[in-house]
Amino acid sequence: MTATVIDGKAFAAKVRAEVAKGVAKLKEEQGITPGLAVVLVGEDPASQVYVRSKGKMTVEVGMNSIEHKLDVDTSEADLLALIAQLNSDPEIHGILVQLPLPDHLDSDLVINSIDPAKDVDGFHISNVGLLGTGQKSMVPCTPLGSLMMLRDHHGSLSGMNAVVIGRSNIVGKPMAQLLLGDSCTVTIAHSRTKDLPDVVRQADIVVAAVGRPQMVQGDWIKPGATVIDVGINRIEKPEGGTRLVGDADYDSCAAVAGAITPVPGGVGPMTIACLLANTLTACCRANGLSEPEGLTA
Ligand code: NAP
Repeated sequence: MTATVIDGKAFAAKVRAEVAKGVAKLKEEQGITPGLAVVLVGEDPASQVYVRSKGKMTVEVGMNSIEHKLDVDTSEADLLALIAQLNSDPEIHGILVQLPLPDHLDSDLVINSIDPAKDVDGFHISNVGLLGTGQKSMVPCTPLGSLMMLRDHHGSLSGMNAVVIGRSNIVGKPMAQLLLGDSCTVTIAHSRTKDLPDVVRQADIVVAAVGRPQMVQGDWIKPGATVIDVGINRIEKPEGGTRLVGDADYDSCAAVAGAITPVPGGVGPMTIACLLANTLTACCRANGLSEPEGLTA
């Protein structure tokens, strides 16, 4: 079998087009423009790249993009004061604090100081609790994007066996909650899981969120299963230079799977698209308006 390639780049473009339509409608009918504030502390090069592309795409869908770039030695009090100001600003509907923060700042404290209704990353403890109890929440972007692609490919996920490899708060755990919400039978695997290949062989859906280049091998995959590869790893090429690979060994997995997301061009582009979707959702909720369909869990 040769797997269907799930094209995250094309899917993300579709999601962004839907968001842009929703934003245009809000402007026309309500005179409201959704606003997304991104806070970057320090000069981590990867974070700078993410923040730049988030800002660019926010503007492209018609939203207001506000960037706050703070010195690496910004105090916790100053950062919390900025977040309090953004929380009370009616023009701001989404707030994202780019992680990782410098070591002297307490990430949990900072994230939990964001108004949960504006927490478009879905990391605030209230949103984690709401998601875990099946209530309306802001859903973390990477798992939301992965879920959208799975729903698009399969229709209903009900009754499917899903194995999520990785138990991080930003990907593995919320991914498992979302799959459970769609009535999958969910296993969460991690570094202490015994016989991981055997566990993965039971899965109709495999979500790899490990951070280990090409770890998941083709002979771990049940024929016809769907592989969602969240991993983004940079490896050396034999001929020199580097390239991006996922947590799944693409060629061997694609030879067995029914469908697979490539890296790059799979889950990655969906993450920013879902950030924009969450900002639109947050703006609609804040104004008591009905939410756009298909853009939330
Ligand atoms: P993380 O916080 O480092 O978590 C990694 C998880 O993998 C942990 O739960 C760890 O288990 C588990 N793990 C590590 N080695 C393992 C092994 N040998 N067997 C089984 N499980 C193992 O990473 P993360 O933030 O979730 O990110 C995971 C990957 O996704 C990274 O490559 C990251 O770059 C990528 N990512 C991509 C996007 C995107 O937009 N596409 C967004 C976020 C992250 P323990 O808990 O037992 O240590």
